Amino acid sequence: MGVYYQLACTWCGQYISFGKKLHRKGHDMLQGLYSEEQHEWMRDERAFQVLQAFLLQHEGHQLTFALDNTKEAQEYEAMDIDSLLKQTS
Ligand SMILES: [Zn+2]
Repeated sequence: MGVYYQLACTWCGQYISFGKKLHRKGHDMLQGLYSEEQHEWMRDERAFQVLQAFLLQHEGHQLTFALDNTKEAQEYEAMDIDSLLKQTS
């Protein structure tokens, strides 16, 4: 715990995980969004599709982007990345 970054809706108690922060070629970056179905971290346009679905579903809500190391964050429910992807593609 405490090494994964998540975009969470504090009102709904749901989140999508962006994995760990990596340092490559002089830049900080996130692992991406993990697809269980495709067994890979998505960092391409599919990641935007998932992000877009999450944002639209939580429009107007209070969102936070942080490490998953708070007590509240650990009680949030992970949203299914593959389901979100299918909503917008
Ligand atoms: Zn919400």
